[in-house]
Amino acid sequence: MDRVLVTGGAGFIGSFLCERLLDSGSDVICLDNFFTGSRENIRHLMDHPKFELIRHDITNPIYLEVDRIYNLACPASPIHYQYNPIKTVKTNVLGVVNMLGIAKRVNARILQASTSEVYGDPQVHPQVESYWGHVNPIGPRSCYDEGKRVAETLMMDYHRKNGVDIKIARIFNTYGPRMHAEDGRVVSNFVIQALRNEPLTIYGDGSQTRAFCYVSDLVDGIIRMMDCPKFIGPVNLGNPGEITVLELAELIKSLTGSKSILEHHPAVQDDPVQRNPDITLARKKLDWAPSVPVEEGLRKTIEYFERQLA
Ligand code: NAD
Ligand code: UDP
Repeated sequence: MDRVLVTGGAGFIGSFLCERLLDSGSDVICLDNFFTGSRENIRHLMDHPKFELIRHDITNPIYLEVDRIYNLACPASPIHYQYNPIKTVKTNVLGVVNMLGIAKRVNARILQASTSEVYGDPQVHPQVESYWGHVNPIGPRSCYDEGKRVAETLMMDYHRKNGVDIKIARIFNTYGPRMHAEDGRVVSNFVIQALRNEPLTIYGDGSQTRAFCYVSDLVDGIIRMMDCPKFIGPVNLGNPGEITVLELAELIKSLTGSKSILEHHPAVQDDPVQRNPDITLARKKLDWAPSVPVEEGLRKTIEYFERQLA
């Protein structure tokens, strides 16, 4: 028996994860409150005999019998997680306690979708898992950063005190088709703006860096982490190809053949200046590294948004 619960399964990453798990023969329960996810993302899975959808909010208890839990439920973009910051904290505290409660009761293995945001505005570069981070506990990003940090704490305490079989994956910026068009993330914003020949909005001077991982690579990494015996993490999952926001804008302009100009806007408060994963541990423990070059991933993403905007 391989019954898998994917919370946040109707979201961007979750929908690809559900797809991959069904392809490998698992029974998949997709649980989502549809805050940022949509039926559209999973419409093609609805008739699959091993797919089941539950509309539910993880901040409320639920009783399910499963073997594995991927806990992805949580808004991921600054616009969405800051929309109702108290709810974001509840999702990462009450929601994670509820999911750990299931894992403990039915002896399921649970993987928490953590984030590079646990490193805050990092002073160690590239970021290694042993770095404790540099997080503002009272800023606009705190609901997410501190929420995800306490989620990691809960995972570790359920593991130490109750022997729950846990996995922690720290996901770095991920992009691809099915990103929410209005979530304000840099890739979706720039692609949509470029396709419309509208100005590309650069926050600050654009020298801040990120490293972008294509969604299929990321999903491969989290499945490898879930399947890996004994290793609980945390493990960084991301693509260590660091570029500045300005370089990303130029790249998307050239791939779309857009006439857009670059337009500078005020810098965002607490915006991390640089971010790049050290994935030595993932290479060693999971034999994992991303394989999709950023140009190829961006082309697929551009094709997706072209269809959406048509
Ligand atoms: P997303 O917003 O597309 O997906 C999140 C899903 O969770 C959505 O379907 C949403 O409706 C659902 N959800 C939110 N709160 C919920 C709740 N209380 N109960 C039930 N469902 C709820 O975002 P994503 O990019 O697919 O991110 C998935 C996970 O990966 C998140 O936990 C996020 O923090 C993490 N992550 C993502 C990135 C990234 O770059 N996309 C980076 C780091 C971490
Ligand atoms: N960003 C930008 N213009 C946009 C959207 C984002 O310059 O239209 C910048 C943002 O300030 C940040 C980087 O791009 O420095 C990545 O932002 P995103 O919200 O995608 O991810 P995160 O900050 O969570 O890494």
